[in-house]
Amino acid sequence: MHSEPDLMTSLVKTASTNAELMARRRAAVPRGVGQAHEIFIARAENAEFWDVEGKRYIDFAGGIAVLNTGHCHPRIIEAVKAQLDLYTHTCFQVVAYEPYVELAERLAALAPGEGAKKTLLLSTGAEAVENAVKIARSYTKRPGVIAFTGGYHGRTVMTLGLTGKVAPYKTGFGPFPGEVFHALFPNPLHGISVEDALASVALLFKNDIEPERVAAFIVEPVQGEGGFYEAPAAFVAGLRELADQHGILLIADEVQTGAGRTGTWFACEQWPVAPDLITSAKSMAGGFPISAVIGRADVMDAPGPGGLGGTYAGSPIGCAAALAVLEVFEQEQLLQRSQALGERLRAGLRAIAAKVPAVVDVRGLGAMVALELGKDGDVHQPDADLTGRVVREAARRGLVLLSCGSYGNVIRILVPLTASDALIDEGLQVLADSFAAVA
Ligand code: PMP
Repeated sequence: MHSEPDLMTSLVKTASTNAELMARRRAAVPRGVGQAHEIFIARAENAEFWDVEGKRYIDFAGGIAVLNTGHCHPRIIEAVKAQLDLYTHTCFQVVAYEPYVELAERLAALAPGEGAKKTLLLSTGAEAVENAVKIARSYTKRPGVIAFTGGYHGRTVMTLGLTGKVAPYKTGFGPFPGEVFHALFPNPLHGISVEDALASVALLFKNDIEPERVAAFIVEPVQGEGGFYEAPAAFVAGLRELADQHGILLIADEVQTGAGRTGTWFACEQWPVAPDLITSAKSMAGGFPISAVIGRADVMDAPGPGGLGGTYAGSPIGCAAALAVLEVFEQEQLLQRSQALGERLRAGLRAIAAKVPAVVDVRGLGAMVALELGKDGDVHQPDADLTGRVVREAARRGLVLLSCGSYGNVIRILVPLTASDALIDEGLQVLADSFAAVA
């Protein structure tokens, strides 16, 4: 399926260089918009892309968890093109269309837990989180939301309030909405046990907000921006118990973990308990902006008529793409692939860890895989400097990676699930070579 690299180079070379475009970007785009790599893309296919100078890259960043089905999957492009020929926009609240309803049905059927489910469609991950909070407040008639340290929930003012890490996301953007509290996210690798985390919730109840004033807990099944730390089963079970005891809702923020990344469609399918609401975005439409809140029908119906929506919410193009993504997942058995790919990646990273003392942990759920770096192999001394140097060296060698974590010392892998084993192994080799080169 891949085109010959030389042919691709001649096809994509443009008049501008990366450096010229960087200079124009600096003058035209606010500096607050970050950029991990000084690369401008010209064309992409599956897990590879070519920059404006014709250089080829293997994409292990996957558009930050958006490209589980790869760049420009032919079936998804075909579905979007077919939709473009019919109609592009009405606003679902003005004149409705079937793809929204069909996608709502399909996502509801995929959500774990007993009873009827409903789905609200939106445009971005942050908007899904905002709406999950609105729905939880409307249902419980309570104001409080408890989020967790290291969590990331978006860049709107409410979702920044929920986000744990301050710099750079929150710096200068406050004040944030009130009635938001943070408890500890368990992190056994760094000495925070499940018991510690649940005890910190109890402390919030005692000191900051009575449980009867809390609408929801919001938690990522695997913290994404926070460093690919998984919420342990006992922790989510403990949250569920507290939620049931006090009439609080449990929201799983699956914006990064959803759409098959972790080996099941939603990561919370692997929990011992079910959440009440799930947020989804990113890979659910393979690169087209659409997001969702899926949850218990009685909870989803709490806001009155007209209380939910948005001009572009659940756009027909996003719906067409998302329905095609679901089809591709079935046809190409991408859930199974996600698990096998995760195992392959972790084995490759463990081989690197055996040679690089700075790698203090290799972890992951399904194909959401990461390695963590500490100075002199000390897990308590995050090595953001080495992380940055490895990521830059890998890019120089044609592999695009992303770091994450509160200390910027985690390298995460979000490669398309559609990537071949050969391409995965090539990428892992570049990563190994990059470690060797910067050592
Ligand atoms: N929640 C989580 C868990 C995320 O990872 C992200 C994006 N990284 C968001 C919410 C926000 O999504 P978006 O950028 O689409 O608004």
